[in-house]
Amino acid sequence: MPQIFCSVGNCHYYGKGNVCKANQIMITSDTMSQNLSSNIDAPYAAQINQTPVTKSPETCCKTFVHKNDFNQNTDGVMKKS
Ligand code: SF4
Repeated sequence: MPQIFCSVGNCHYYGKGNVCKANQIMITSDTMSQNLSSNIDAPYAAQINQTPVTKSPETCCKTFVHKNDFNQNTDGVMKKS
């Protein structure tokens, strides 16, 4: 997986130097992200329909979970050490 840089500092997967420490992530359209359950994430990516967008602000990281959220591990994504 390519190295992913991300500045969302309050994400559970955020790492020092703006590095994402998730073992996998899923990017989708804002609309799709809002309509999917929080449990549906990267492990299910192949089962989700394509979601074309026009501009980058219409995309988001579906894998984001707040660092204080007690549901951090319900989506099957793991945090690398
Ligand atoms: S999971 Fe998404 S929001 Fe969280 S650090 Fe990684 S890229 Fe950023």
